Amino acid sequence: MRLNEYKNISDDVMDVSKKIYQEILQQCETLKLYKSRFSNTVYNEGTITVNNITIDFLMYYLDTIGEYNRFMEMLGRDANSYTDYDNRYIKIVSGFIAGYPSPDFLGNIAHEINHLFEYDNGREKRVDLYNAVKKMLNDNSYDKQCVARCLYYTFQHEIDAFVHQFYAFLCQENPRQMSFSDLLQYSEYKNAVMYYDYVKANQMNKDVIEAINDLGYSKRKFFKRVHFALKKLENKMHNAYVRYSHENPILSDWYIRRLLKQENLLQEDIERFGEKIEWGTESIFEF
Ligand SMILES: [Zn+2]
Repeated sequence: MRLNEYKNISDDVMDVSKKIYQEILQQCETLKLYKSRFSNTVYNEGTITVNNITIDFLMYYLDTIGEYNRFMEMLGRDANSYTDYDNRYIKIVSGFIAGYPSPDFLGNIAHEINHLFEYDNGREKRVDLYNAVKKMLNDNSYDKQCVARCLYYTFQHEIDAFVHQFYAFLCQENPRQMSFSDLLQYSEYKNAVMYYDYVKANQMNKDVIEAINDLGYSKRKFFKRVHFALKKLENKMHNAYVRYSHENPILSDWYIRRLLKQENLLQEDIERFGEKIEWGTESIFEF
């Protein structure tokens, strides 16, 4: 059983993730900057310990989001964040864009912390299929990689980690005016759908058929599993979005106008009559 879970989001995961986020940002203000001989990019790095978890971080400094994305792509697998459950160790590779933490920074931390906590609770089990999928992710055939990707999104612990990642993204970026369906476009869900569509469209390819069979599935069962996993991922993300919206309500235009009007009224009053409107109580509430 997970404690303090509301709308599929664990407060424990979020509290520790935010602590790590703050601490890394604080450290970065005092750490020495270096210019990488390897990539010519400015960076700093360090180690912190939060709640008995050791976190190595490496932060790059880039000017635009385009540069940042290209740079991370170039780093490839070395740039992947990484968790060693038994040693309670996490590696975070991220950065600043024009001085602000990259939009996926808190999300990446939350993804890894969620895995770690699930592992602590004995809920994250390394199953054979998971290992086979992870191996296939590195296959030379793009078709096989896509099949593996699809199954990757069906594991319960990945779904939970992606949901926390999404919620953390909302907390960091606070995109209050955006609808849920727009926000999905900025989430891992978009990638999941892309891989699913690709495999569906190419299901007659030799490598696709082979990959599905190698992982022990019939086509029908494979598509069913992925389809329902994506539904589950979307539902849980929606719950996270609902929670976020409750915590960060948007004041309606009408309400904002009223507040402004009230303020103006007070101001006008002071100017015209030299006195404020006084506090009152409606008579129906007086007794
Ligand atoms: Zn993961």
